Amino acid sequence: MTHPVHSNADHELIRVTVQLFPTPSQDATFRAWLAALTQANGALTTVLHGTTLRAGAPALTRDEIAYLLTLVSPALEASLPPSVWPSVISQCCTRFQRRRDSSASEPSLPLDVQIQAIGEMHVHVTGQPDLVVADLWRLPLGLTEALVCTGNDHVRAVQHQGHTLRTADTAGSPAALTQLHDLIRLHGPVIGRPPGHTGVHRTQPHRAQFADLTCQIGVDGKEIWLLTCTVRVPPGWLPRAHRQDTVGVDVGVRALVTWADATDAGQLLRTTLPVGDWRPQQPATLLSAAWVRRMQFERTQAGLDQVIRHLLTYRRVAIEQLAWRGLTAGIREAMTLNGVSSLGVWLTGLGRLTGTVVCAVNPAGTSVQCGQCGQRGVLQANRVFRCQNCGDIDRDTNAARSIRRVSLEGWT
Ligand SMILES: [Zn+2]
Repeated sequence: MTHPVHSNADHELIRVTVQLFPTPSQDATFRAWLAALTQANGALTTVLHGTTLRAGAPALTRDEIAYLLTLVSPALEASLPPSVWPSVISQCCTRFQRRRDSSASEPSLPLDVQIQAIGEMHVHVTGQPDLVVADLWRLPLGLTEALVCTGNDHVRAVQHQGHTLRTADTAGSPAALTQLHDLIRLHGPVIGRPPGHTGVHRTQPHRAQFADLTCQIGVDGKEIWLLTCTVRVPPGWLPRAHRQDTVGVDVGVRALVTWADATDAGQLLRTTLPVGDWRPQQPATLLSAAWVRRMQFERTQAGLDQVIRHLLTYRRVAIEQLAWRGLTAGIREAMTLNGVSSLGVWLTGLGRLTGTVVCAVNPAGTSVQCGQCGQRGVLQANRVFRCQNCGDIDRDTNAARSIRRVSLEGWT
């Protein structure tokens, strides 16, 4: 399942983040893991403070850090999912060998290969009795497959092992039943699943080992669970950006994405009503809610992918910074569901592959300034912007031009 590190040389690594939707009991388990890690990190910081963390002191070895960790927090290893211990030690090494005070940084649990995509809507953590609902499908340019194909190989490996153990048991092996029991205890929800068609192909993007779980505050102020995975991308998967120009990008609910460069402009309009108004007659389950989100997202997914590919042909992208607090809940929900709210993050991540630099522009004033001459204009009916000098133009196209102007001239 794991690949040697040197194989990264011919690939580029990007990080992708998906949201998890745990049940209350899964949520409690996640919280307990992070709490245990936070406590251990705090204890380790206290122990090392003023001694090894001091500048000039020799760096601790991996063995020393592992030893100290078991000393300050004897129950930690047993309280975490099985087999994540080496990753936890590696994480502590990174923190403490660089002598950073880790007590202030956000706790994250390095699950690495112990968390795997199971299809496009679930992940499984080794040792957990149930799958966790996850919006794996909500990634651009088919990158969902990069996570799923690695998961498929994992499912196949587990099933192969199960088959081998059953054969051994039939043949009279005394240890087989114990081993099969352990395998099912660790991978139970995976063992009966169809493994899916595609496995890892090194010519296509596929998951690397790193994956970590964090709890963050979402745009509506609620805590959300995020899983960040590293994806290995083969060279040439995305062409290098060839347009020297800067493109300005305005995002919205009617016109989802509007872009404008020095001479050209384009728009991705929404084709169906956004959500926010649809409510189920029966209470949603985690999975039914995920399917509703997925169907909303799929309405715009192809168009969004097309826009992303186009924007990544530019050397510079200036994108409107979303002022989440200024948006009403319905608009926020619609922009999250149709994927528009993630555009900046996706472009920033993928821009590393194409050589595209993405900058976020404060949109204040950009809708009433003329993107052509900079004069203040007037918003008319029918979504028209009127400039005394330049005439009438679609207001979103003007906003995209304005955002481009702001990024080029540095005025806000
Ligand atoms: Zn003008």
